[in-house]
Amino acid sequence: MSEKSLNVFEIVQQQIKVACDALGETNEVYEMLKQPKSCLEVAIPVKMDNGELRIFQGYRSLHNDSIGPGKGGVRYHQNVTMDEVKALSAWMTFKCGVAGIPYGGGKGGIIVDPTTLSKNEIEKLSRAYIKAISPVIGPNVDIPAPDVNTTPEIMAWMTDEYSMLKEQFTPAIITGKPLSIGGSLARFEATGYGVALMIREAFKATNREIKGAKVSIQGFGNVGRFTAYYAEKFGAKIVAISDVSCCLYNEAGLNIEELFDYVKKPENKNMLTGYKGAEEFSRDKIFEIESEAFSPCALENAITAENVGKIAAPLIIEGANGPTTPEADKVINEKGKFLVPDILANGGGVMVSYFEWVQNLQNYYWSFEEVQEKQETKMVNAFNDILNIKNQYNVSMRVAAFMMSIKRVADAMRARGWVK
Ligand code: NAD
Repeated sequence: MSEKSLNVFEIVQQQIKVACDALGETNEVYEMLKQPKSCLEVAIPVKMDNGELRIFQGYRSLHNDSIGPGKGGVRYHQNVTMDEVKALSAWMTFKCGVAGIPYGGGKGGIIVDPTTLSKNEIEKLSRAYIKAISPVIGPNVDIPAPDVNTTPEIMAWMTDEYSMLKEQFTPAIITGKPLSIGGSLARFEATGYGVALMIREAFKATNREIKGAKVSIQGFGNVGRFTAYYAEKFGAKIVAISDVSCCLYNEAGLNIEELFDYVKKPENKNMLTGYKGAEEFSRDKIFEIESEAFSPCALENAITAENVGKIAAPLIIEGANGPTTPEADKVINEKGKFLVPDILANGGGVMVSYFEWVQNLQNYYWSFEEVQEKQETKMVNAFNDILNIKNQYNVSMRVAAFMMSIKRVADAMRARGWVK
């Protein structure tokens, strides 16, 4: 099958098959995991500002809940499909399994371009969506969170709607909330902080020194930004960062805090282009920059069969979800590069979502430092466990991560009598 015709659901099914085969798992386990347990499709009526009624299509997929309730974000995008939501919910099962947190996988989405809606319409849509999927979610059933184009403000409306339906304040129904209604400190930084931790561990595992090492990063959104910030704190020299507008390069190292301030200026529209403290190239130059570690933190399918040959870095740490196509992944393995897969590297977000849920349930809140410390311990343990599996079975870190996760889910399904 060509790279272009493979959809994300087929990709995740392939990944499950490879890991099940490597583990010698039963066909029953593969059959249970290759599709979600349930996927609800809802029609969401919204009275628009001009008085017209529009019906939006939405989904909530629960992939597996053998270890605990489903967990996963809600995406607002015009290209959302049921297959995409199903695939993302499966990845969430394995991401939670890798992180060692007691959740299964869930995911939701609405087919909508939110930039065409007013704030009032987005609020109505968000509330109506939660109402529509309320029979299949709950603090012990399936817990939504933000994803593409959904914000803490939207999470607050959803929490409020659900709480009104249940006639009691229920903060543990949603994570990624504003701090004022039970959000967690260090949640905003969590994904990028985790990616930076994984960069640091990848240096250690391959006997490289991170101090002064060149690192390049694709993407300067929430994930890329904090990856750069914390990787620099760990001693790396961030020589290149790209975003949708350009690629910035400075051999002496970019000044990350200055870049944070630069993109925040309203006239710069959250983009890197025009920054004076670096050379500026077109955005795809990022693949050719000489560095010891490269972290794709922008979009899926960023590293393809076409550009993988240009990447010189021996270490690749996946900040984005699904940034490497299966063909490119093969090339990376053949070249003997060390790749930390997305389900481990960007698992910091869901990990701190879990901490948020735990804090909500116990009504006791932790400090920023306590949250980051707990995140570090869990992520470094997961990295080392996966490294051991990689070495024991002589497989890639990606296959090892799926193996660890699938084994945990299969053990739970077996214990509950779902499979033999
Ligand atoms: P974001 O929208 O904040 O940032 C995306 C960045 O990518 C922007 O800087 C944008 O300019 C850049 N970009 C877009 N197209 C590009 C291109 N062709 N070349 C270079 N840069 C490009 O998104 P985010 O929250 O940082 O998420 C990034 C990725 O990480 C996504 O795959 C997302 O699913 C994944 N992820 C995010 C989180 C989270 O907590 N935010 C958690 C896990 C995974």
